[in-house]
Amino acid sequence: MTATYITTTIPYVNARPHIGHALELVQADVLARFRRGSGDAVRFQAGTDDNSLKNVLAAEAAGVPVREFVDRNAEAFLALAGALSLTPDDFIRTSRDPRHRPGVERFWRACSADLYRKRYEGLYCTGCEQFYTPAELNGGRCPEHDTVPQQVSEENWFFRLSRYAGPLRQAITTGRLRIEPAGRRNEVLAFIDAGLADFSVSRPAERAGGWGIPVPGDPGQVIYVWFDALCNYVTALDYGGDGEAYQRWWAGGGNRVHLLGKGVLRFHAVCWPAMLLSSGQPLPTGIFVHDYLTAGGRKISKSAAAVAAVEPAALAAEYGADAVRWWLLREVPRVGDADFTVERLIARADDELANGLGNLVNRVVAMIGRYRGGRVPGPAPVPPGGEDLDAAIRQAGDLIGAALEEFDFRQATAAVWAIADEANRFVSQARPWDLAKAVAPERLDAVLSLLARACSALGKELAPFLPDAAARITGQCTPSGGRLPAPSPVFRRLGR
Ligand SMILES: [Zn+2]
Repeated sequence: MTATYITTTIPYVNARPHIGHALELVQADVLARFRRGSGDAVRFQAGTDDNSLKNVLAAEAAGVPVREFVDRNAEAFLALAGALSLTPDDFIRTSRDPRHRPGVERFWRACSADLYRKRYEGLYCTGCEQFYTPAELNGGRCPEHDTVPQQVSEENWFFRLSRYAGPLRQAITTGRLRIEPAGRRNEVLAFIDAGLADFSVSRPAERAGGWGIPVPGDPGQVIYVWFDALCNYVTALDYGGDGEAYQRWWAGGGNRVHLLGKGVLRFHAVCWPAMLLSSGQPLPTGIFVHDYLTAGGRKISKSAAAVAAVEPAALAAEYGADAVRWWLLREVPRVGDADFTVERLIARADDELANGLGNLVNRVVAMIGRYRGGRVPGPAPVPPGGEDLDAAIRQAGDLIGAALEEFDFRQATAAVWAIADEANRFVSQARPWDLAKAVAPERLDAVLSLLARACSALGKELAPFLPDAAARITGQCTPSGGRLPAPSPVFRRLGR
């Protein structure tokens, strides 16, 4: 049994979650559910990054004690699991998980050959929690936040990243560390080839407001938030403890897959693998990078009002987890940004889920009820005109597997959608109601049998993507006492 470990990044909790966070969580959940369904042993991990200076500043601005502020927002992230029907096996909160600090301390010590102290002056963006060189700025402003970075001068611990250009390049070009999409892999290689500079991995405890993990043996310094945060992928496996989970999910021969947004690519594809090499640990096997969502054409800013407008839990409460998941999976491309609006969510759900899928299942169950007393006709040869539908049913599993191997969620959902699309076409063409009137029992049996097979396949193949809807469809397609239940809608229409 293959062990597959799937992680999302751990977001800062300086604000409540927005739809962009939901994208990564839903993608990871789909992969986890699909892999479990394929027989892998899966561990899906999510969490929050509590030890950030950004959280401290946001709490101060809100006039709330840091602990209370961090707890409140972290709870909102945790609540997404229920709201969006996610199945994380573990949820780590870096400030209060007892496994985290011993793991980070062990990691730090394991890297000690590459750690040294140095006086440093640079331009620091608190929004990004990173230093920038002047060349990386846009007209003197942070490319992510459009703010002017702070000039900071201090003595810090540094990590000898410069040593790892060769080994990193080799791991990436040989595919031992797979980075998708290819454009992101090339971006990382270009960054490595431009020369890797050592990076700061601590800051004075004073500037961190006393928040964070002290450097082992140097309590005047706090471990830099990125070093701390990246460690979560192994500290949650109890890297600092007895290591049983660590042996199973990280040190073993399985898959170790990180999902992340383009803004944190370098940390995950350069710094993190170098830290792992330095500390003598295996690399991740895969990194999948998604682009960003905008909302109504605008960057989802951290302003409370803008975030509130696209809060995934609120959207799921109003429109259902299925509709939110379907939009994220069907409309967000593998490469390129996507724009979220409630109108698009409603249009996509009504068009495909209510009118396409839901209507199909409803009609098929109703026809089997009306013409066959709820008894599903047994297997029959594929009737004329049903060849494309039969092919769509038989190919769906393989197509979904291949698409998810490439992290292509649109392609994967297209394979499910093809079943519904072909089935609706087949209903219009085969006209079961005419066959019933014409008393063509064998032909009608063959048509209904194929349509029932299509609905069952939809329930099965849809399960990783829309688990709640899949369960309802499967319920409609499962006879009890030999008969299907009475038809009941599997999706409600959202539009007016
Ligand atoms: Zn920034």
